Amino acid sequence: MQLTKLNEEQLKNISTSINLQRAENYVGKFHDCAVDSSMIKGTIKGNHGDYTVTLKIDTDPIEFECNCEKGKNMFCKHAAALGLTYIYTPWEFASNQKMDRKSIRTTEEIKFFIKTTPMKQLLDELKKIDVSISELADLSGITMKQISSIVKEDTNGKHHTLTDPLKLSCLYLLEKYS
Ligand SMILES: [Zn+2]
Repeated sequence: MQLTKLNEEQLKNISTSINLQRAENYVGKFHDCAVDSSMIKGTIKGNHGDYTVTLKIDTDPIEFECNCEKGKNMFCKHAAALGLTYIYTPWEFASNQKMDRKSIRTTEEIKFFIKTTPMKQLLDELKKIDVSISELADLSGITMKQISSIVKEDTNGKHHTLTDPLKLSCLYLLEKYS
């Protein structure tokens, strides 16, 4: 799995800074996010219905499309917001893509792996290599009781502030012992 990179410079090259500032309010509010090689896509609720934004991000300037009124002529706040959303939370675009633990090379890929791999799956893998929950609790400093509630929340799609650190501990143990 390899995601096409987008950086803030590319957005700054095509967008006014005021537009980028406005866009911050819309980051993370897209639904139906998807990525297909260098095309990213997402839909957002606007004042006049849903706006669908498409960006082609392997070019500089970026190619864009948004069906809002302003989007016809300029790089609108929705387009900027989709770009920022992709930079900040790339896993929302590729939630159906799985990353192989063995292919992780960068910290960004660690983050992606953590965001797309359910807690329960990591615990199941730990179990297979005979690492117990109490060892995990010991290492992470997160109590068994907390771990149990974090796993439940994660299964229900809820995010706890300790979810990522706990997953990171799991990942470390898996790398160390398997
Ligand atoms: Zn727009």
